[in-house]
Amino acid sequence: MMTIMSSQFRPVLERIADEIERTPGRGAPADYIPALAACDPRSFGMAVAELDGTVYGVGDWREPFSTQSITKVFTLALDLAREGDELWEHVGREPSGNPFNSLVQLEYENGIPRNPFINAGALVVTDRLHSRTGDAAGALLTFLREESGNPALDFDEEVAASEAAHGDRNAALAHFMAAYGNIDNDIPVLLDQYFRQCSIRASCADLALATTFLARHGIRADDTRLLTLSQAKQINAIMLTCGTYDAAGDFAYRVGLPGKSGVGGGIIAVVPGRCTLCVWSPGLDERGNSVAGVAALDRFTTLTGLSVF
Ligand code: GLN
Repeated sequence: MMTIMSSQFRPVLERIADEIERTPGRGAPADYIPALAACDPRSFGMAVAELDGTVYGVGDWREPFSTQSITKVFTLALDLAREGDELWEHVGREPSGNPFNSLVQLEYENGIPRNPFINAGALVVTDRLHSRTGDAAGALLTFLREESGNPALDFDEEVAASEAAHGDRNAALAHFMAAYGNIDNDIPVLLDQYFRQCSIRASCADLALATTFLARHGIRADDTRLLTLSQAKQINAIMLTCGTYDAAGDFAYRVGLPGKSGVGGGIIAVVPGRCTLCVWSPGLDERGNSVAGVAALDRFTTLTGLSVF
């Protein structure tokens, strides 16, 4: 295994992009809303951000895409920073082994979602962040703009409206948890916040930079501390065990990094103390993870030896 220097990230990324380009089979874009179904599955971008804010990329790394469930990491960080361990009375920290939008486990487990990265758990986190800030989606957008250094990041109102129009399952999750007393806000308010959160568009460059606080053990881009060392460790651990839903075991086996996927085809990953990555390709596997994205991260950790193991 080679010792990888910063200057070597670029050739590694170029090699991965070349390999991905020649690999057939990219999966299919999410089709539950038209705005995602229209994405070109051949799109591919990958970025690495270093702890000092240097960012490298290949392919479509500056192309904004729908961040979707990747945002669940940032709302978790923002809420945990505010409320601390009390959050864990309302959401668990175990892998679900079920699809991200599953309802079944909630009934057995009395309305307490397994973890913050399945939809039910993210709804609880957004609800709690909304109670604390009065505008969860706005707090999230501000944070992403500040950490990425890109003030142009924004909601995609068309995607948010489309999510709402096809949002029966998320509404069912929210109502079900409300029946157990695990939701504070009115359901329409919560769903609006959640759908706007999912709709934010950002590029691989933006998201790699915005994730840097997790590689910096909780320290933000402006050198202030968002999370304690323990909280940063906790979020990285939950990303490793739950960040890719019922494929988290396989992701840990192949990539060996804390990661979080979204059905827009993006995946963020963290090499604690070293760098962050974001990869995007809209074609998904049957569990909702980007096919080329997982393959690219697998190649990155294999070629560089940069994993947590
Ligand atoms: N907006 C999607 C949903 O709530 C997000 C899911 C995801 O990215 N896995 O169903």
